[in-house]
Amino acid sequence: MESSYKIGRIKGIEIGIHYSWLIIFALLTYSLAESFFPSLHDNWSSGQYWIIAIIASLLLFASVVAHELGHSFVAIAKGIPVHNITLFIFGGVASLSQDVKDAKTEFLVAIAGPAVSLGIAVISVALMYVLRGISEQFSAVFQYLALANGLLVVFNLIPGFPLDGGRVFRSIVWGITNSMERATRIATTLGVIIGYLFVIVGIFIVFSGQLISGIWFGAIGWFLQNAAEQSMQQYRTQRIFQNVQISMLMDPNPTVVDPGTTIDELVDHHIIGSNSHGVPVVQQGVLLGIITSTDLKSTPRSEWSTLRVADRMTPRQQLVTVTTDTPIEVAMQMMSEKDIHQIPVVREGMLVGLLTRGAIIRFIQLRSELPPDTKA
Ligand SMILES: [Zn+2]
Repeated sequence: MESSYKIGRIKGIEIGIHYSWLIIFALLTYSLAESFFPSLHDNWSSGQYWIIAIIASLLLFASVVAHELGHSFVAIAKGIPVHNITLFIFGGVASLSQDVKDAKTEFLVAIAGPAVSLGIAVISVALMYVLRGISEQFSAVFQYLALANGLLVVFNLIPGFPLDGGRVFRSIVWGITNSMERATRIATTLGVIIGYLFVIVGIFIVFSGQLISGIWFGAIGWFLQNAAEQSMQQYRTQRIFQNVQISMLMDPNPTVVDPGTTIDELVDHHIIGSNSHGVPVVQQGVLLGIITSTDLKSTPRSEWSTLRVADRMTPRQQLVTVTTDTPIEVAMQMMSEKDIHQIPVVREGMLVGLLTRGAIIRFIQLRSELPPDTKA
C-alpha cells in the first residue's frame, strides 16, 4: 500500500503504517484518556489518564501487528512469501505475494489472525485480574486490551470477503465444492450483501435517534461492500487474463514512422485511414518516441510540410512502456491512469510491438462470448 511509513522488520516482513492509522491512533488515545479510563476510574490525575491511554493505544497497535503476523507466519510456513504488513484505518493488511493454492491453506492462514487476537484477549483478561491488587492503572490497560481484541475477533470474523471471516467462509465453500472460482463468487457476493445489510441497519439506527452509531455502522457497511466488490472485480480480471501474455495481444508489426518524416506525410500515409491514435517513431528498430493526433492539434496546417515527426513527438523518456513480461493487468492500469490508448512494448530499447486498448477490449469481448473455463 502506498503512502505508508516503514517502522521496522520482523523475520524479513516489512512493517509499515499508513498515514490513516496515525489519525486513528490520535483519536483513540484522546477518547481513552478523556472518556474510557475516566469512566472506569475517576481518581487518577489527568497526566495518568494520558500516559495510560498512550500505553493502551501502543499495546493495541502491537496486538494488530501480532494479528497480522499470525496470518503471515502461517502463510510462510505453507510456502507463501509475505513481503510486508501495513497498518491502516480499519486494522492491518498482510500482503501475500501470491494466492493460496488450496482450501485448507486458505482456512489456516485466515483463521490464524483472529486466533492470535483471541489469545491476546484471553491473556489480557488473566492479567487484568492478576494486576487488580497491584496496579489499578495497568489492570485497566488490560481490561481495555481484552475488550479491543475481543472486538477485533468479532469484526474480523464477519463472513464478508475479504475480511478474515469471509476468507474462512470461502475456504469452506471451496473445500465443499472443490471450485475456487465458485467459492470466490459466493463469498464475494455474500460480502456485498453483508455490506448492504450493515448500511441498512445503520440507517435504521440513525432514524432511531443514535446518529453517531448509525453513521459508524453505515461506514463499516460501505467499506465492506466496496472491498467485496473490488475483490470480485480483481478476481474476474485475473481469471480473464490468466495464462495470457502481452505478446499474444500486442501487434508485433505496428505501423511506425521515421523521425525524419514530415507531418504531412505522417497524416496522409499513417494516421488518416488507419484509425490509429498513435504511431511509434522508430529508427533502425530503436524506439525514439510516439506521435499521436493530440501532439498535432496545436500545430498549424501551414507548418505540416516543413515540420518533422521528431519535432512534435513525445520523446522516449516521457513514454510509458512495457516489456513482454509485464502482466496485462499492470499494462491496463497504466493505460487508465495515464489515459493513453497504446503502450509500446520494448526489449532493450528496441520496439517489439504495440499494445492497444482496442486489442484488450476485443480480447475481453471474445472471452466473454466463449463458455467459461470450468477447470479450476
Ligand atoms: Zn486478519
